[in-house]
Amino acid sequence: MDNLYTKDYALTLLNTKKGALNELYAKADRIRKQYMGDEVFIRGIVEFSNICSNNCLYCGIRASNSNVKRYKMKMDEILSIAKKMEKSHQTTIVLQSGEIKGTYDEEIGELIKRIKRETSLAVTLSVGNRPYETYKYWKECGMDRYFLRFETSNRELFSRLHPDSSFDERIECLMNLKSLGVQTGSGFMIGLPGETIETLAENILLCRALDLDMIGIGPFIPHPDTPLGNEKNAYEDDKDMFFKAVAVLRIFNPDCHIPATTAFDAVFPGNGRNLVLQRGANIFMPNNTPKKYREEYLLYPGKPGVDETPEESLDSAIKRILSINRTVGTGPGHSIKKH
Ligand code: SAM
Repeated sequence: MDNLYTKDYALTLLNTKKGALNELYAKADRIRKQYMGDEVFIRGIVEFSNICSNNCLYCGIRASNSNVKRYKMKMDEILSIAKKMEKSHQTTIVLQSGEIKGTYDEEIGELIKRIKRETSLAVTLSVGNRPYETYKYWKECGMDRYFLRFETSNRELFSRLHPDSSFDERIECLMNLKSLGVQTGSGFMIGLPGETIETLAENILLCRALDLDMIGIGPFIPHPDTPLGNEKNAYEDDKDMFFKAVAVLRIFNPDCHIPATTAFDAVFPGNGRNLVLQRGANIFMPNNTPKKYREEYLLYPGKPGVDETPEESLDSAIKRILSINRTVGTGPGHSIKKH
C-alpha cells in the first residue's frame, strides 16, 4: 500500500497542469469527505505572548525585531477567554506564543491545569521546542495536543533559517510528543526561498512518515522587518502551487486533521481559507486574541482580522463554513487515529 505514496507520485500530482487542477482538488475533497466527514472543527487560537528568544529568519516576532512591542497576557485574561470560547461552542483552545525556554514553563503548566479544571475545552499548545521532561509535565497537566512545524524537510535550508535550533532537535521534539501520547501536529511553510518542488514533495512525504494527527501548512510570506524581507515566495508566479500542496497533502494523509491556515487569507484575502477547505482541509482556527494585542503578533504582513474582535472572527468563521455547505463540528474533534 505504501508503495503508492512515493516521491514520484507526489511530484506527478504537484506538477498537475492548470486544465486538470479541478480534478486534483475534487480528489482531495472526496478523500477529506470520506475520512473526515463534512464537519469543520473550530479551534480558537489565542496568541498569548509574542516574547521570543529565537531569531528565525522569516518570522515577524523574531527576537531582534525591535519594532515589535512585546506582551504576555495574564493567566486570568486567558482563562476568561477560554470560558467565553466554551460558551460560543469552540471546543479547543490553541495557545500559541513565541519561544522562551524555561521561564514560563511552569506558568504554562498551571494555565493548562486551570483550563482543564474550569472548562471542557481540549488544549493544544504551540510554543516551540522543549525537552522531553517539559512536554511530559504539560501532558500530566492535561495538555491534549501539540503543534510544532518542522518548517522544511531540507536540512540545509532548515539550518540556514534557524540559528537557534537544528532539524534533528525539531524532529526529536515531535517524536517525544508522540511517545508521550500527545496528539501531535506538524507541517511546513510553502515556498521558502531556496526550496524546490522536490523539497515540497519531500515535505509532504515527511508529514506522512511522521504519522501525524494534525498537519498545518501555509505559504511563506516575506516580512519586511526580517532578513528575508526582500525575498520572494518560491511560487510567487505560480500560486496554484499553494493549493496543490494542500490537495496532495490530503491525498497522502487521508485521516489527519488539516487546518485551513490564516496565511492563505493573507495571500487570497477573504477567500483563501474557503478554497483550502474545499481542497482538502477540515479545520478552521478563528483568532481569539484580544484586539489590542493583534497588531503585535504579525508573523507576516497582511495578516487578516487584525482589526476584528474575537466575536467577529468567530462569526465570520461560522458564516464561511456554512457558505460552502459544510457543518460546524461538535465535540472536541480529537485525532481519529488510534493512540
Ligand atoms: N514559537 C512557536 C513555534 O516556532 O512553533 C509557535 C509560533 S511560530 C510564530 C508559528 C508559525 O508561524 C511557525 O511555525 C511558522 O511556520 C509561521 N510563520 C512565521 N513567520 C512566517 C512567515 N513570514 N510566513 C508564513 N508563516 C510564518
